[in-house]
Amino acid sequence: MAVKCDPYHTITEEKPEQRDVYHDYKDCPQGSRIKPENWQSGKDGRPRCDDCIDMD
Ligand SMILES: [Zn+2]
Repeated sequence: MAVKCDPYHTITEEKPEQRDVYHDYKDCPQGSRIKPENWQSGKDGRPRCDDCIDMD
């Protein structure tokens, strides 16, 4: 089962599909690709990631 966590996002623009969204599942395929140095806690006013929505 997917495990929910506190919202997080990436501060980089390395991949277009990773921009401007936040994640709240640890197992999100997009969120799990965020490198530790680019990981940032919080929503940052962004919409929710489509993959995270699909895991509800
Ligand atoms: Zn996500």
